[in-house]
Amino acid sequence: MSSDPIRYCSVGEVSRIGASAHYLRLGPYGFLLDAGLDPQAEAEFSVPDYERIKNEPVHAILITHAHLDHIGSLPVAIRYFPRARVYMTPATADLTEHMLRHHLYVSEKKARERRIKFEPLYTDTYLESIRYLYQSFDYGVPFPLHGSGDKQLRFTFYDAGHILGSAGVLIEWRGRRFFYTGNTRRSAQFLLRGGKYPRQVDVLITEATYGADEAAEKTSMRKEVARFARLVAERLRFGGIVLIPVFALGRTQEMLTLLQRLRMQDRLPAVPIYLTGFGLQINRIYDRLLHKIYPQYNHGTLRSMLFGRLKPGQRIQGPAVLLSTSGMMIPGSPSYGFARELAAEARNGIFFVGYADPETPGGLFQQGHLDRLKSMLGLEKIAARIERFYFSAHSHRRELLQMIAGMKPSQILLTHGEPQALHWMEQAIRRQMEEADVFIPRKGRWYELLNGPIGTTR
Ligand SMILES: [Zn+2]
Ligand SMILES: [Zn+2]
Repeated sequence: MSSDPIRYCSVGEVSRIGASAHYLRLGPYGFLLDAGLDPQAEAEFSVPDYERIKNEPVHAILITHAHLDHIGSLPVAIRYFPRARVYMTPATADLTEHMLRHHLYVSEKKARERRIKFEPLYTDTYLESIRYLYQSFDYGVPFPLHGSGDKQLRFTFYDAGHILGSAGVLIEWRGRRFFYTGNTRRSAQFLLRGGKYPRQVDVLITEATYGADEAAEKTSMRKEVARFARLVAERLRFGGIVLIPVFALGRTQEMLTLLQRLRMQDRLPAVPIYLTGFGLQINRIYDRLLHKIYPQYNHGTLRSMLFGRLKPGQRIQGPAVLLSTSGMMIPGSPSYGFARELAAEARNGIFFVGYADPETPGGLFQQGHLDRLKSMLGLEKIAARIERFYFSAHSHRRELLQMIAGMKPSQILLTHGEPQALHWMEQAIRRQMEEADVFIPRKGRWYELLNGPIGTTR
């Protein structure tokens, strides 16, 4: 082992979209990249294995974006590593506060409904006390490890094009460059522009969400938008309601922007657009902060598009479009409740527009398991039109390969993907970049980097 070892350990999930958390040790320094939570798992299993690194130094926690699978265990990580600096972009800091508080609220509600004791990972008061630790930096502005005085160490956030505030993080240390993509999309979405990446890096830790998705790669955005417009318009003509299950953060704002654009182009009739609960709060944050990143963006744009807020149980009349969380239609969520109400009627539509974990209702549908979906929804028949559209906040796999090739890394660690996704990416990189050392790390194992081929160290 060299005198200043560079080591890596994934303390969170690798081969699932679960809790993201990576530990990177650069000589005397230790960094935690993301502090996620598995939103599907029960509390004690949902948190990364921080025990694994509790005797390691953690000088900074770098947060890439405010989705729960990247921030959900941040309060726990801060308790483990109270002296760590916490770095993120300004928008991520704002969103993180809201997301964590909302998660607490939702978990408490769930516990109450199931009549089980609520044992939160953190409290409201604790959240209040840690928000002052967040230090935020804009894209493209290098910053040091505060308090270290080390001129050979610096960090830079790169716009990741995934959601508001999302970033990839470049760590430069003694002339070596390490880049962690977080979640990323290289080409523009409807609202956000595409991601940006450093020119050259030595080690790349990249997501691989869509590695197994051939259809996503083959879909042309223009054609997909046309298909979406045509099918939504068709449901609305029949007087139906189109339910679009969405994540509150990201997908909601992107889909609102698309719907508004289609209305302006007369490709959709001007029917009411409804939104449930938490997405509205996130809209307000987008409306307040997005213009700081994109000066052309007008305050209040998202707010002005909506017809109204809808509460679960409240009935609406078609024709209408309804955006509702969760994007995966998880049982108990508003979109799950609305789907049960709307699925039996042929004029309605349920249109999925983002990633869904394979075992969720959204995922079952995407794999064509309509029978299992029926039993999960508790319905005799599904008559509504059910469709899937490839509007993602992640790069498809070809785009990921282009991104990787552009950074010319000598070592590549693949994470944040189902096993098939990781393996497809691994094979494709081996074919395309013969020089590069590509690796799928195992959770909890230690790897030494930039010292010959990647292998486990202990
Ligand atoms: Zn994300
Ligand atoms: Zn993620």
